[in-house]
Amino acid sequence: TYDVHIIGGGLAGSEAAWQLGRRGFKVRMSEMRGTGERSPAHQTDGLAELVCSNSFRSDDDEKNAVGLLHHEMRRCDSLIMGAAAKAEVPAGSALAVDRDVFSVEVEARLSALPNVEIVRERIDTLPESGLTLVATGPLTAEALASSIGRATGSDSLAFFDAIAPIVYRETIDMDVCWMASRWDKGETKDYINCPMDKQQYLAFHQGLVEGEKTAFKEWEANTPYFDGCMPIEVMAERGVDTLRFGPMKPVGLDNPHWATAEHPNGRWPYAVVQLRQDNKLGTLWNMVGFQTKLKHAEQVRLFRTIPGLEKAEFARLGGLHRNTFLNSPVLLDRQLRLKTAPHIRFAGQITGCEGYVESSAVGLMAGLMTAAELAGREWQAPPRTTALGALLSHITGDAEADSYQPMNVNFGLFPPLHDVKKKQRKEAYTERAKADIGSWLATLTPAA
Ligand code: FAD
Repeated sequence: TYDVHIIGGGLAGSEAAWQLGRRGFKVRMSEMRGTGERSPAHQTDGLAELVCSNSFRSDDDEKNAVGLLHHEMRRCDSLIMGAAAKAEVPAGSALAVDRDVFSVEVEARLSALPNVEIVRERIDTLPESGLTLVATGPLTAEALASSIGRATGSDSLAFFDAIAPIVYRETIDMDVCWMASRWDKGETKDYINCPMDKQQYLAFHQGLVEGEKTAFKEWEANTPYFDGCMPIEVMAERGVDTLRFGPMKPVGLDNPHWATAEHPNGRWPYAVVQLRQDNKLGTLWNMVGFQTKLKHAEQVRLFRTIPGLEKAEFARLGGLHRNTFLNSPVLLDRQLRLKTAPHIRFAGQITGCEGYVESSAVGLMAGLMTAAELAGREWQAPPRTTALGALLSHITGDAEADSYQPMNVNFGLFPPLHDVKKKQRKEAYTERAKADIGSWLATLTPAA
Protein backbone atom coordinates (compact mmCIF):
# COMPACT_ATOMS: atom_id res chain seq x y z
CA THR A 1 0.00 0.00 0.00
CA TYR A 2 1.09 3.56 -0.65
CA ASP A 3 -0.18 7.10 -0.15
CA VAL A 4 0.42 8.35 -3.66
CA HIS A 5 1.13 6.82 -7.04
CA ILE A 6 3.55 8.80 -9.19
CA ILE A 7 3.55 7.86 -12.86
CA GLY A 8 6.84 8.76 -14.59
CA GLY A 9 10.35 8.80 -13.11
CA GLY A 10 11.71 11.72 -15.11
CA LEU A 11 12.69 15.10 -13.71
CA ALA A 12 9.29 16.07 -12.32
CA GLY A 13 8.31 12.63 -11.02
CA SER A 14 11.63 12.09 -9.25
CA GLU A 15 11.50 15.54 -7.62
CA ALA A 16 7.90 15.00 -6.46
CA ALA A 17 8.78 11.56 -5.06
CA TRP A 18 11.66 13.12 -3.11
CA GLN A 19 9.52 15.88 -1.61
CA LEU A 20 6.90 13.33 -0.53
CA GLY A 21 9.33 10.65 0.61
CA ARG A 22 11.27 13.15 2.74
CA ARG A 23 8.03 14.01 4.50
CA GLY A 24 7.39 10.40 5.40
CA PHE A 25 4.72 9.57 2.83
CA LYS A 26 4.66 6.24 1.04
CA VAL A 27 5.24 6.63 -2.67
CA ARG A 28 5.03 4.17 -5.54
CA MET A 29 6.78 5.60 -8.58
CA SER A 30 6.13 3.78 -11.87
CA GLU A 31 8.68 4.29 -14.64
CA MET A 32 8.30 2.50 -17.96
CA ARG A 33 11.98 2.62 -18.88
CA GLY A 34 13.65 -0.53 -17.64
CA THR A 35 10.86 -2.68 -19.09
CA GLY A 36 12.43 -2.64 -22.55
CA GLU A 37 10.44 0.40 -23.59
CA ARG A 38 11.62 3.99 -24.03
CA SER A 39 10.41 7.19 -25.63
CA PRO A 40 12.17 8.04 -28.90
CA ALA A 41 14.27 10.70 -27.12
CA HIS A 42 15.42 8.69 -24.08
CA GLN A 43 18.56 6.58 -24.39
CA THR A 44 18.97 5.06 -20.93
CA ASP A 45 16.89 3.48 -18.18
CA GLY A 46 18.16 5.92 -15.54
CA LEU A 47 15.77 8.18 -13.63
CA ALA A 48 15.71 11.87 -14.58
CA GLU A 49 17.55 11.38 -17.86
CA LEU A 50 18.43 14.67 -19.58
CA VAL A 51 17.37 13.93 -23.14
CA CYS A 52 19.27 16.69 -24.92
CA SER A 53 21.49 19.45 -23.54
CA ASN A 54 23.33 18.85 -20.24
CA SER A 55 22.62 22.39 -19.04
CA PHE A 56 20.17 23.75 -16.49
CA ARG A 57 20.83 27.17 -18.03
CA SER A 58 21.89 30.28 -16.10
CA ASP A 59 22.77 29.90 -12.42
CA ASP A 60 22.76 33.69 -11.95
CA ASP A 61 20.14 34.26 -9.26
CA GLU A 62 20.48 38.05 -9.32
CA LYS A 63 19.62 38.92 -12.89
CA ASN A 64 18.10 35.81 -14.39
CA ALA A 65 14.69 34.22 -13.86
CA VAL A 66 15.84 30.63 -14.28
CA GLY A 67 18.80 31.28 -11.95
CA LEU A 68 16.28 32.59 -9.42
CA LEU A 69 14.26 29.40 -9.85
CA HIS A 70 17.43 27.38 -9.03
CA HIS A 71 17.83 29.47 -5.88
CA GLU A 72 14.24 28.93 -4.76
CA MET A 73 14.36 25.19 -5.49
CA ARG A 74 17.54 24.87 -3.42
CA ARG A 75 15.75 26.52 -0.54
CA CYS A 76 13.07 23.83 -0.90
CA ASP A 77 15.72 21.09 -0.60
CA SER A 78 15.30 20.12 -4.27
CA LEU A 79 16.53 16.67 -5.29
CA ILE A 80 17.27 17.86 -8.82
CA MET A 81 19.35 20.81 -7.60
CA GLY A 82 21.12 18.62 -5.04
CA ALA A 83 22.04 15.99 -7.61
CA ALA A 84 23.09 18.73 -10.06
CA ALA A 85 25.54 20.11 -7.49
CA LYS A 86 27.09 16.64 -7.17
CA ALA A 87 27.33 16.20 -10.96
CA GLU A 88 28.35 19.76 -11.89
CA VAL A 89 30.82 20.39 -14.72
CA PRO A 90 32.39 23.80 -15.54
CA ALA A 91 30.10 25.94 -17.71
CA GLY A 92 30.76 29.59 -16.83
CA SER A 93 27.72 31.17 -15.25
CA ALA A 94 25.49 28.28 -16.35
CA LEU A 95 24.77 25.16 -14.30
CA ALA A 96 25.72 22.13 -16.38
CA VAL A 97 26.13 18.52 -15.31
CA ASP A 98 27.58 15.19 -16.30
CA ARG A 99 24.27 13.62 -17.29
CA ASP A 100 25.20 10.07 -16.24
CA VAL A 101 26.54 11.10 -12.83
CA PHE A 102 23.43 13.25 -12.40
CA SER A 103 20.97 10.46 -13.19
CA VAL A 104 22.82 7.96 -10.97
CA GLU A 105 22.79 10.50 -8.13
CA VAL A 106 19.03 11.11 -8.46
CA GLU A 107 18.37 7.39 -8.40
CA ALA A 108 20.71 6.78 -5.45
CA ARG A 109 19.16 9.53 -3.33
CA LEU A 110 15.62 8.36 -4.06
CA SER A 111 16.44 4.69 -3.53
CA ALA A 112 17.86 5.57 -0.13
CA LEU A 113 14.41 6.74 1.03
CA PRO A 114 12.79 3.65 2.56
CA ASN A 115 9.24 4.75 1.78
CA VAL A 116 9.79 5.39 -1.95
CA GLU A 117 9.30 2.30 -4.09
CA ILE A 118 10.54 2.58 -7.69
CA VAL A 119 8.75 0.13 -9.95
CA ARG A 120 9.66 -0.45 -13.56
CA GLU A 121 6.26 -0.70 -15.23
CA ARG A 122 4.25 1.12 -17.85
CA ILE A 123 0.88 2.50 -16.81
CA ASP A 124 -1.74 2.58 -19.54
CA THR A 125 -4.79 4.15 -17.93
CA LEU A 126 -5.43 6.89 -15.41
CA PRO A 127 -6.32 5.26 -12.07
CA GLU A 128 -9.97 5.69 -11.10
CA SER A 129 -9.16 6.36 -7.49
CA GLY A 130 -6.26 7.00 -5.15
CA LEU A 131 -4.01 10.08 -5.09
CA THR A 132 -2.11 10.04 -8.37
CA LEU A 133 0.55 12.31 -9.80
CA VAL A 134 1.06 12.09 -13.56
CA ALA A 135 4.54 13.22 -14.65
CA THR A 136 5.01 11.35 -17.90
CA GLY A 137 6.50 14.25 -19.80
CA PRO A 138 6.45 15.55 -23.36
CA LEU A 139 6.67 12.03 -24.79
CA THR A 140 4.03 10.31 -22.66
CA ALA A 141 3.50 6.73 -23.87
CA GLU A 142 0.61 6.36 -26.29
CA ALA A 143 -1.92 4.32 -24.31
CA LEU A 144 -1.73 6.59 -21.28
CA ALA A 145 -1.90 9.68 -23.50
CA SER A 146 -5.14 8.32 -24.98
CA SER A 147 -6.49 7.71 -21.51
CA ILE A 148 -5.60 11.29 -20.51
CA GLY A 149 -7.20 12.53 -23.74
CA ARG A 150 -10.42 10.70 -22.86
CA ALA A 151 -10.44 12.31 -19.41
CA THR A 152 -9.71 15.82 -20.62
CA GLY A 153 -11.38 15.92 -24.03
CA SER A 154 -9.16 15.50 -27.06
CA ASP A 155 -9.13 19.24 -27.83
CA SER A 156 -7.40 19.91 -24.54
CA LEU A 157 -4.42 17.58 -24.94
CA ALA A 158 -1.91 18.56 -27.62
CA PHE A 159 0.68 16.25 -29.17
CA PHE A 160 2.67 18.98 -30.86
CA ASP A 161 3.42 22.50 -29.82
CA ALA A 162 3.35 25.39 -32.29
CA ILE A 163 5.14 28.18 -30.53
CA ALA A 164 4.99 31.76 -31.72
CA PRO A 165 7.58 34.15 -30.29
CA ILE A 166 6.59 36.19 -27.25
CA VAL A 167 7.75 39.77 -26.81
CA TYR A 168 8.01 41.82 -23.62
CA ARG A 169 5.44 44.58 -23.99
CA GLU A 170 7.79 47.28 -22.70
CA THR A 171 10.24 46.64 -25.55
CA ILE A 172 7.71 47.39 -28.32
CA ASP A 173 7.99 50.87 -29.89
CA MET A 174 4.48 52.34 -29.73
CA ASP A 175 5.59 55.41 -31.69
CA VAL A 176 5.64 53.05 -34.66
CA CYS A 177 3.03 50.44 -33.67
CA TRP A 178 -0.57 51.08 -32.69
CA MET A 179 -3.38 49.33 -30.87
CA ALA A 180 -6.40 48.30 -32.94
CA SER A 181 -8.59 45.41 -33.93
CA ARG A 182 -9.42 44.82 -37.58
CA TRP A 183 -12.20 47.12 -38.83
CA ASP A 184 -11.86 48.88 -35.51
CA LYS A 185 -14.60 51.31 -34.71
CA GLY A 186 -12.72 52.49 -31.70
CA GLU A 187 -14.11 50.07 -29.09
CA THR A 188 -11.91 46.97 -29.13
CA LYS A 189 -8.29 47.86 -29.59
CA ASP A 190 -7.05 44.39 -28.76
CA TYR A 191 -3.98 43.98 -30.96
CA ILE A 192 -0.64 45.70 -31.24
CA ASN A 193 -0.02 46.24 -34.95
CA CYS A 194 3.37 46.66 -36.62
CA PRO A 195 3.10 48.30 -40.07
CA MET A 196 5.19 47.38 -43.12
CA ASP A 197 5.49 49.10 -46.47
CA LYS A 198 6.00 47.11 -49.67
CA GLN A 199 9.77 47.21 -49.61
CA GLN A 200 9.95 46.15 -45.97
CA TYR A 201 7.53 43.31 -46.60
CA LEU A 202 9.41 41.95 -49.61
CA ALA A 203 12.72 42.00 -47.70
CA PHE A 204 11.05 40.31 -44.73
CA HIS A 205 9.47 37.65 -46.95
CA GLN A 206 12.84 36.90 -48.49
CA GLY A 207 14.36 36.65 -45.00
CA LEU A 208 11.78 34.06 -43.99
CA VAL A 209 12.31 31.94 -47.07
CA GLU A 210 16.10 32.07 -46.95
CA GLY A 211 16.58 31.97 -43.17
CA GLU A 212 18.27 28.97 -41.61
CA LYS A 213 15.79 26.48 -40.11
CA THR A 214 16.09 23.80 -37.44
CA ALA A 215 15.46 20.33 -38.84
CA PHE A 216 12.82 18.05 -37.35
CA LYS A 217 14.21 15.03 -35.51
CA GLU A 218 13.83 11.76 -37.39
CA TRP A 219 10.96 10.61 -35.15
CA GLU A 220 9.24 13.96 -35.54
CA ALA A 221 9.26 13.70 -39.32
CA ASN A 222 5.52 13.12 -39.49
CA THR A 223 4.73 16.26 -37.56
CA PRO A 224 1.41 17.38 -38.96
CA TYR A 225 0.78 21.04 -39.64
CA PHE A 226 -2.58 21.62 -38.03
CA ASP A 227 -4.88 24.32 -39.30
CA GLY A 228 -3.58 27.65 -38.15
CA CYS A 229 -0.31 26.14 -36.95
CA MET A 230 1.72 26.06 -40.14
CA PRO A 231 5.20 27.50 -39.71
CA ILE A 232 5.32 31.04 -41.02
CA GLU A 233 8.23 30.21 -43.37
CA VAL A 234 6.30 27.29 -44.92
CA MET A 235 3.46 29.68 -45.63
CA ALA A 236 5.92 32.20 -47.07
CA GLU A 237 7.29 29.56 -49.43
CA ARG A 238 3.84 29.11 -50.98
CA GLY A 239 3.94 32.49 -52.65
CA VAL A 240 5.07 36.02 -52.12
CA ASP A 241 1.58 37.23 -51.16
CA THR A 242 0.36 34.22 -49.14
CA LEU A 243 1.20 35.92 -45.83
CA ARG A 244 -0.59 39.10 -46.88
CA PHE A 245 -3.76 37.03 -47.17
CA GLY A 246 -2.95 35.17 -43.95
CA PRO A 247 -1.39 36.30 -40.67
CA MET A 248 0.04 39.52 -42.14
CA LYS A 249 -3.24 40.69 -43.68
CA PRO A 250 -3.45 44.51 -43.55
CA VAL A 251 -7.11 45.03 -44.48
CA GLY A 252 -9.23 46.96 -42.02
CA LEU A 253 -6.20 48.22 -40.11
CA ASP A 254 -5.88 51.99 -40.45
CA ASN A 255 -2.50 53.09 -39.19
CA PRO A 256 -3.05 56.41 -37.36
CA HIS A 257 0.67 57.19 -37.57
CA TRP A 258 0.15 57.43 -41.31
CA ALA A 259 -2.83 59.82 -41.17
CA THR A 260 -3.08 62.54 -43.83
CA ALA A 261 -5.62 65.26 -44.58
CA GLU A 262 -7.18 62.93 -47.10
CA HIS A 263 -7.08 59.91 -44.74
CA PRO A 264 -7.58 61.34 -41.25
CA ASN A 265 -7.86 57.86 -39.67
CA GLY A 266 -4.67 56.74 -41.36
CA ARG A 267 -4.11 54.20 -44.10
CA TRP A 268 -3.72 50.43 -44.34
CA PRO A 269 -0.08 49.34 -44.47
CA TYR A 270 1.11 46.92 -47.17
CA ALA A 271 1.35 44.20 -44.52
CA VAL A 272 0.91 44.02 -40.74
CA VAL A 273 2.41 41.91 -37.96
CA GLN A 274 -0.09 41.58 -35.11
CA LEU A 275 0.65 40.84 -31.47
CA ARG A 276 -1.95 39.58 -29.01
CA GLN A 277 -1.84 39.74 -25.23
CA ASP A 278 -0.55 36.47 -23.79
CA ASN A 279 -0.94 36.79 -20.02
CA LYS A 280 -3.35 38.53 -17.66
CA LEU A 281 -0.62 40.88 -16.42
CA GLY A 282 -0.35 42.26 -19.96
CA THR A 283 3.45 42.08 -19.88
CA LEU A 284 3.79 39.43 -22.62
CA TRP A 285 2.51 39.62 -26.19
CA ASN A 286 2.66 36.85 -28.79
CA MET A 287 3.27 37.34 -32.49
CA VAL A 288 0.07 35.99 -34.02
CA GLY A 289 0.66 33.19 -36.54
CA PHE A 290 4.45 33.33 -36.24
CA GLN A 291 5.15 29.74 -35.12
CA THR A 292 8.42 28.87 -36.79
CA LYS A 293 11.32 26.45 -37.15
CA LEU A 294 13.78 29.28 -37.90
CA LYS A 295 16.91 29.05 -35.79
CA HIS A 296 16.72 31.18 -32.66
CA ALA A 297 19.46 33.64 -33.66
CA GLU A 298 17.83 34.01 -37.06
CA GLN A 299 14.45 34.76 -35.43
CA VAL A 300 15.94 37.52 -33.29
CA ARG A 301 17.73 39.05 -36.27
CA LEU A 302 14.80 38.86 -38.68
CA PHE A 303 11.98 39.79 -36.27
CA ARG A 304 13.91 42.89 -35.19
CA THR A 305 13.59 44.14 -38.78
CA ILE A 306 9.83 44.43 -38.20
CA PRO A 307 8.95 48.12 -37.72
CA GLY A 308 8.36 48.75 -34.02
CA LEU A 309 10.21 45.61 -32.93
CA GLU A 310 13.73 46.90 -33.58
CA LYS A 311 14.49 46.70 -29.86
CA ALA A 312 12.22 43.78 -29.04
CA GLU A 313 13.30 41.44 -26.26
CA PHE A 314 11.84 37.97 -26.48
CA ALA A 315 10.49 36.04 -23.49
CA ARG A 316 10.21 32.99 -25.73
CA LEU A 317 11.26 32.28 -29.30
CA GLY A 318 9.23 30.25 -31.75
CA GLY A 319 9.36 26.51 -32.26
CA LEU A 320 7.49 23.41 -33.32
CA HIS A 321 8.07 20.06 -31.61
CA ARG A 322 6.51 16.78 -30.66
CA ASN A 323 5.23 17.64 -27.18
CA THR A 324 2.35 16.22 -25.15
CA PHE A 325 0.77 18.93 -23.00
CA LEU A 326 -2.55 19.89 -21.45
CA ASN A 327 -4.50 23.11 -21.77
CA SER A 328 -3.78 23.56 -18.07
CA PRO A 329 -5.35 27.00 -17.52
CA VAL A 330 -8.70 25.43 -18.41
CA LEU A 331 -8.32 21.86 -17.11
CA LEU A 332 -6.39 22.17 -13.86
CA ASP A 333 -7.25 23.89 -10.61
CA ARG A 334 -4.73 26.12 -8.77
CA GLN A 335 -3.24 22.98 -7.23
CA LEU A 336 -2.56 21.25 -10.55
CA ARG A 337 -5.50 18.85 -10.05
CA LEU A 338 -7.77 17.82 -12.87
CA LYS A 339 -10.95 19.75 -12.12
CA THR A 340 -13.12 16.83 -13.22
CA ALA A 341 -11.11 14.20 -11.29
CA PRO A 342 -9.28 15.91 -8.42
CA HIS A 343 -7.51 12.74 -7.26
CA ILE A 344 -5.31 13.19 -10.34
CA ARG A 345 -2.62 15.83 -10.30
CA PHE A 346 -0.22 16.65 -13.12
CA ALA A 347 3.41 17.75 -12.94
CA GLY A 348 6.30 18.53 -15.27
CA GLN A 349 6.31 19.43 -18.90
CA ILE A 350 2.88 17.86 -19.51
CA THR A 351 1.39 20.85 -17.64
CA GLY A 352 2.74 23.18 -20.34
CA CYS A 353 5.87 24.46 -18.72
CA GLU A 354 9.02 24.16 -20.82
CA GLY A 355 12.51 23.08 -19.83
CA TYR A 356 14.35 20.81 -17.41
CA VAL A 357 14.32 23.33 -14.55
CA GLU A 358 10.70 24.39 -14.97
CA SER A 359 9.55 20.74 -15.22
CA SER A 360 11.46 19.90 -12.04
CA ALA A 361 10.05 22.98 -10.30
CA VAL A 362 6.48 22.03 -11.15
CA GLY A 363 7.26 18.49 -9.91
CA LEU A 364 8.54 20.01 -6.67
CA MET A 365 5.38 22.06 -6.18
CA ALA A 366 3.12 19.11 -7.07
CA GLY A 367 4.96 17.02 -4.46
CA LEU A 368 4.47 19.73 -1.84
CA MET A 369 0.78 20.13 -2.70
CA THR A 370 0.24 16.38 -2.39
CA ALA A 371 2.11 16.36 0.92
CA ALA A 372 -0.14 19.12 2.27
CA GLU A 373 -3.22 17.22 1.11
CA LEU A 374 -2.05 14.00 2.78
CA ALA A 375 -1.15 15.83 5.98
CA GLY A 376 -4.55 17.55 6.06
CA ARG A 377 -2.89 20.96 5.92
CA GLU A 378 -4.09 23.89 3.91
CA TRP A 379 -1.84 24.45 0.91
CA GLN A 380 -0.59 27.94 0.37
CA ALA A 381 0.68 28.77 -3.09
CA PRO A 382 4.12 30.37 -3.29
CA PRO A 383 3.85 34.18 -3.63
CA ARG A 384 3.38 35.29 -7.23
CA THR A 385 6.43 37.49 -6.85
CA THR A 386 8.64 34.36 -6.64
CA ALA A 387 9.74 32.35 -9.67
CA LEU A 388 7.86 29.31 -8.35
CA GLY A 389 4.70 31.34 -7.80
CA ALA A 390 4.92 33.17 -11.14
CA LEU A 391 5.31 29.91 -13.06
CA LEU A 392 2.50 28.20 -11.17
CA SER A 393 0.12 31.15 -11.61
CA HIS A 394 0.80 31.19 -15.32
CA ILE A 395 0.09 27.49 -15.76
CA THR A 396 -2.98 27.34 -13.58
CA GLY A 397 -4.91 30.32 -14.82
CA ASP A 398 -3.04 33.47 -15.77
CA ALA A 399 -2.02 32.37 -19.25
CA GLU A 400 -4.43 32.98 -22.10
CA ALA A 401 -6.09 29.58 -22.58
CA ASP A 402 -6.82 30.09 -26.29
CA SER A 403 -3.18 30.49 -27.22
CA TYR A 404 -1.69 28.32 -24.45
CA GLN A 405 1.73 27.01 -25.48
CA PRO A 406 4.73 25.76 -23.48
CA MET A 407 6.43 28.45 -21.40
CA ASN A 408 9.85 28.98 -19.85
CA VAL A 409 10.16 30.95 -16.62
CA ASN A 410 10.86 34.64 -17.38
CA PHE A 411 10.40 38.00 -15.69
CA GLY A 412 7.37 38.76 -17.87
CA LEU A 413 5.43 36.29 -15.69
CA PHE A 414 6.11 38.35 -12.54
CA PRO A 415 3.91 41.22 -11.30
CA PRO A 416 5.61 44.15 -13.04
CA LEU A 417 7.84 46.70 -11.29
CA HIS A 418 7.22 49.67 -13.57
CA ASP A 419 8.54 52.16 -11.04
CA VAL A 420 12.02 50.65 -10.96
CA LYS A 421 14.45 51.91 -13.61
CA LYS A 422 14.88 49.38 -16.40
CA LYS A 423 18.57 48.87 -15.65
CA GLN A 424 17.85 47.79 -12.08
CA ARG A 425 14.66 45.88 -12.73
CA LYS A 426 16.07 42.35 -12.95
CA GLU A 427 17.82 42.73 -9.60
CA ALA A 428 14.62 44.21 -8.18
CA TYR A 429 12.62 41.15 -9.27
CA THR A 430 15.09 38.72 -7.71
CA GLU A 431 15.45 40.73 -4.49
CA ARG A 432 11.69 40.90 -4.06
CA ALA A 433 11.38 37.14 -4.70
CA LYS A 434 14.10 36.24 -2.21
CA ALA A 435 12.50 38.43 0.45
CA ASP A 436 9.02 37.01 -0.19
CA ILE A 437 9.84 33.33 -0.29
CA GLY A 438 11.00 33.03 3.33
CA SER A 439 7.61 33.23 5.00
CA TRP A 440 6.13 30.82 2.46
CA LEU A 441 8.80 28.19 3.20
CA ALA A 442 7.61 28.26 6.80
CA THR A 443 4.12 27.15 5.67
CA LEU A 444 5.33 23.89 4.11
CA THR A 445 4.67 20.48 5.60
CA PRO A 446 7.86 19.75 7.55
CA ALA A 447 10.17 16.87 6.61
CA ALA A 448 9.76 13.76 8.76
P1 FAD B 1 10.52 13.43 -18.56
O1 FAD B 1 11.80 13.83 -17.99
O2 FAD B 1 10.45 13.04 -19.99
O3 FAD B 1 9.97 12.23 -17.67
C1 FAD B 1 8.81 11.51 -18.00
C2 FAD B 1 9.04 10.08 -17.61
O4 FAD B 1 7.82 9.36 -17.73
C3 FAD B 1 10.04 9.37 -18.53
O5 FAD B 1 11.04 8.80 -17.74
C4 FAD B 1 9.20 8.35 -19.27
O6 FAD B 1 9.94 7.17 -19.56
C5 FAD B 1 8.08 8.09 -18.30
N1 FAD B 1 6.81 7.62 -18.90
C6 FAD B 1 6.18 8.10 -20.00
N2 FAD B 1 5.00 7.45 -20.17
C7 FAD B 1 4.89 6.56 -19.18
C8 FAD B 1 3.90 5.57 -18.81
N3 FAD B 1 2.79 5.42 -19.53
N4 FAD B 1 4.10 4.80 -17.72
C9 FAD B 1 5.24 4.95 -16.97
N5 FAD B 1 6.21 5.84 -17.28
C10 FAD B 1 6.03 6.65 -18.36
N6 FAD B 1 14.57 21.04 -21.84
C11 FAD B 1 15.70 21.74 -21.54
O7 FAD B 1 15.71 22.49 -20.56
N7 FAD B 1 16.81 21.63 -22.30
C12 FAD B 1 16.87 20.81 -23.37
O8 FAD B 1 17.90 20.73 -24.02
C13 FAD B 1 15.71 20.06 -23.72
N8 FAD B 1 15.72 19.25 -24.79
C14 FAD B 1 14.64 18.50 -25.09
C15 FAD B 1 14.69 17.62 -26.19
C16 FAD B 1 13.60 16.82 -26.51
C17 FAD B 1 13.70 15.89 -27.67
C18 FAD B 1 12.42 16.92 -25.74
C19 FAD B 1 11.23 16.06 -26.05
C20 FAD B 1 12.35 17.78 -24.66
C21 FAD B 1 13.45 18.59 -24.33
N9 FAD B 1 13.42 19.49 -23.25
C22 FAD B 1 14.55 20.21 -22.91
C23 FAD B 1 12.17 19.75 -22.55
C24 FAD B 1 11.87 19.12 -21.18
O9 FAD B 1 12.32 19.98 -20.21
C25 FAD B 1 12.37 17.75 -20.91
O10 FAD B 1 11.70 16.91 -21.79
C26 FAD B 1 12.13 17.29 -19.45
O11 FAD B 1 12.74 16.05 -19.32
C27 FAD B 1 10.69 17.21 -19.01
O12 FAD B 1 10.61 16.69 -17.70
P2 FAD B 1 9.40 15.74 -17.26
O13 FAD B 1 9.71 15.20 -15.93
O14 FAD B 1 8.13 16.46 -17.44
O15 FAD B 1 9.40 14.57 -18.35
